[in-house]
Amino acid sequence: MKLLNGKELSNTIKQELTLEVQEMTKRGERVPHLAAVLVGDNPASESYVRSKVRSCQQVGFESTLIRRHADITEEELLEIIADLNSNRDIDGFIVQLPLPKHIDENNVTLAIDPKKDVDGFHPVNFGKMAQGLPAFLPATPFGIVTMLDRYGIETSGKECVVVGRSNIVGTPMSILLSRKAKVGNCTVTLTHSRTKDLRAHCLKADIIIAAIGIPNFITGDMIKEGAVVVDVGINRVDDTSKKRGYRLVGDVDFDQAAERAGYLTPVPGGVGPMTVVSLLMNTLRANREALYE
Ligand code: NDP
Repeated sequence: MKLLNGKELSNTIKQELTLEVQEMTKRGERVPHLAAVLVGDNPASESYVRSKVRSCQQVGFESTLIRRHADITEEELLEIIADLNSNRDIDGFIVQLPLPKHIDENNVTLAIDPKKDVDGFHPVNFGKMAQGLPAFLPATPFGIVTMLDRYGIETSGKECVVVGRSNIVGTPMSILLSRKAKVGNCTVTLTHSRTKDLRAHCLKADIIIAAIGIPNFITGDMIKEGAVVVDVGINRVDDTSKKRGYRLVGDVDFDQAAERAGYLTPVPGGVGPMTVVSLLMNTLRANREALYE
């Protein structure tokens, strides 16, 4: 089994981005600037946003973190988004999900200017992606596509099973892998909680993308010998041996999968760092596109 080392690959891409920023600075151009809006104090969201801001600093991007209490009204949040939309110093921004229950996430996503939507969640970007037009791709699926590409994994003509159909991972992943593109041309089956005999589907797959949110859900007996297994899951499970009281595990039983898979992503250190670096790539793109406006 070969490990798909997202941490290592994301560091390589960060070095490439750093060089690009240095070139931009030499040319006297404004460096990319990402803003992140964090509402409330969800520990997982805090850690994701911290890592995004830290990654910006590593590559020489500017970053701005806007923090608000969980009791912010939807109207107030929409005002912040309107300000970010019109702020010419900001190339792209994200509003970290999930949001408190009293805020409608759809309204928030729709309020973001598609040109600054570096998370790729706005229906304009989603629609363009589905039609194969240039668009900001959602960060996690973009990271996975980049990983398959850089590891030279052939996808054309392969059977791919995506487990999970969320708007941010499973569904866009299924679209990207079925597109007529360098990484694409798969025959994709999109599965979910109503799928009958998931094991039978998975066993046919040359490529499995697991995005479910249930620890160790995909077991070794669901994996065809030699398959490429991409584990998107990030689940906290109690572990008293750890200082913080938990450890992170994926949606795939890593030890069992390692016995069967040809390629496998670890958790942590697989898809997670690729998601962050994809956000940086989208922000760079937004900055370049703003140059020509
Ligand atoms: P959601 O909760 O939005 O979606 C989960 C999906 O899994 C749903 O489509 C659901 O089906 C499906 N599902 C649930 N139970 C089963 C089952 N028994 N059999 C088959 N399918 C099932 O999750 P997300 O897509 O947001 O996240 C999935 C995981 O990925 C989480 O662990 C999350 O933390 C992680 N994640 C990691 C990221 C990274 O950067 N590595 C980024 C984003 C998420 P149904 O639609 O029928 O309910």
